[in-house]
Amino acid sequence: MDPAKKNIKQLVIWVAAFILLLVLFQNLKVANEETEVPYSVFRERLKGQQVVDVTVRPDMIRGGFKGPDGKIQRFRAYPLPDPNLVADLDKDNVREYKGEPDKSWVTAALINVGWVVLFVALWWFFLVRQVQMGGKQALSFGRSRAKLAGGDKKKKTTFADVAGCDEAKEELQEIVDFLKDPGKFQKLGGKIPKGVLLYGAPGTGKTLLARAIAGEAGVPFFSASGSEFVEMFVGVGAARVRDLFEQAKKTAPAVVFVDELDAVGRHRFAGIGGGHDEREQTLNQILIELDGFEGQSGVILIAATNRPDVLDPALLRPGRFDRHINIPSPDKRGREAILRVHMRSVKLDPKVEVDVLARRTPGFVGSDLANLVNEAALLAARRNKVQVELPELEEAIDRVMAGPQRKSRMISDKEKRIIAYHESGHALIAKLLPGADPVHKVSIIPRGPALGYTLQLPEDDRYLTSRTELINNLCVLLGGRCTEVLVFNEITTGDSSDLSKATALAQKMVMEFGMSERVGPITYRKESEVFLGRDIARGPGYSESTAELIDAEIKRILGECQAKVSELLVKNRRLLDALAEKLIEKEILEGEEVSAILQAATA
Ligand code: ADP
Ligand code: ZN
Repeated sequence: MDPAKKNIKQLVIWVAAFILLLVLFQNLKVANEETEVPYSVFRERLKGQQVVDVTVRPDMIRGGFKGPDGKIQRFRAYPLPDPNLVADLDKDNVREYKGEPDKSWVTAALINVGWVVLFVALWWFFLVRQVQMGGKQALSFGRSRAKLAGGDKKKKTTFADVAGCDEAKEELQEIVDFLKDPGKFQKLGGKIPKGVLLYGAPGTGKTLLARAIAGEAGVPFFSASGSEFVEMFVGVGAARVRDLFEQAKKTAPAVVFVDELDAVGRHRFAGIGGGHDEREQTLNQILIELDGFEGQSGVILIAATNRPDVLDPALLRPGRFDRHINIPSPDKRGREAILRVHMRSVKLDPKVEVDVLARRTPGFVGSDLANLVNEAALLAARRNKVQVELPELEEAIDRVMAGPQRKSRMISDKEKRIIAYHESGHALIAKLLPGADPVHKVSIIPRGPALGYTLQLPEDDRYLTSRTELINNLCVLLGGRCTEVLVFNEITTGDSSDLSKATALAQKMVMEFGMSERVGPITYRKESEVFLGRDIARGPGYSESTAELIDAEIKRILGECQAKVSELLVKNRRLLDALAEKLIEKEILEGEEVSAILQAATA
């Protein structure tokens, strides 16, 4: 609060206190000096010749009478129609009597004015002042609560503050160039993106990146969260969106950032019972704003979500959020880079090996790592150290791991080992089987619900798949599970999708492609209708004994594949270990690296 505002607040308090005192004082004065008596008592005292003076007002009689002890007491009485009063005053020896005009309105007016002043003061205090302060809280129903950042030159976020997502930064550089000089960009004929969607797990730095884009380009940054737009009253969210973009357009070029887009951008017709009116209106307003951007407006909308799958398709159409950029969870190298970014601002023991810390923190995202460094610095301060040393960092890792939001995503060393072997199993089987699709990438960085993945890409587009190829695919799918059994003598729940995929594939081979000799060349594909999004199957269309045969064949195919895979794994255990060890170390292996490792291990 600046001094002027402080003065105003004090003034208001003083005025209120003064009025209060005035009212109290008046009441007290009246109560102390005068006693109110009935007219009859006044008349009696008059008759008894005790009254010494009287002032008559149309609304009140005031006066004094001599008490039994001889002292004068003040009294007041409310007059009654009494034509004989003056005669009696004369007769009963009143020393002095006089008339006075009605003054009651003065008091009344004073009190009323007092209230008015009080109310005005309060109103002014609560409403006007807040608006002046720019808080806009009391009158801000339809206003966006967007926060404007930028302006202050000293703490600008740039790409240098964001680490471990170089690909995303490269893609976003184009947006920075556009924001720096929209006019030049257009002259060169560049097609300007309107909306950019950043998606990735929470804490991977989406907000930070959006801020860095504004920082790099030196333009204002407006941010709001999708959940702010979903208000109790229909229409408020839409009004806020409108307001947000109006503000941004005024200062264009500018970046508007909407966090948690999924809060408003969910598929509109999801769920029986209709949509959510307010959300839908807000979403429509966002679409209108996006469609309304001409290139000239120079406003770029950046949105973030960790649930791109639930977004309304209308949002993702060309001309809207047509740039989708994945912000991945960082791998080991990324984590090291992020740690270094945050360690810039703490004094670190030079003996600490940052890459070792990175290896010890699989599954950590940017916010976890920022948290880690911060915790370590706090611990060091508490221990009166002049620099952050390894023990603090190790303890901080444990603290962050135990933190409430981390637990679900935590990967222990043991789990990491299991995941590494599982993925190595997939990759090795794919390498060993002739004609299987080449392994493009193996990763044990969690992606979505999957804890790791092995990516195979076919060399050419394929339209026909042979039985051998399908069997190969089955074997690769089973490779992870078989490896777990071989190495750890145990099966984890992690591979349930592998198994369901394998089962579905075997089922298709038997029932659709006629690839089982015993079942024969026949399709038992169930005719089904899509009704309310669900398959409602008609009868199976085959006999009980055929069903048994189909089941047996599916089991046989899967069983044969499993036996083959297990045999391959046992024979090539050395390769498997080599691959897994390297994967634990590097977390992501490219196709060529996989080949090199296998070659080295064979030799
Ligand atoms: P998101 O928006 O993806 O949930 P944030 O951008 O809010 O994540 O990240 C929270 C904090 O975590 C940031 O302010 C920053 O300190 C840290 N952080 C996250 N990702 C990174 C990163 N890639 N590089 C550096 N710091 C990061
Ligand atoms: Zn798997």
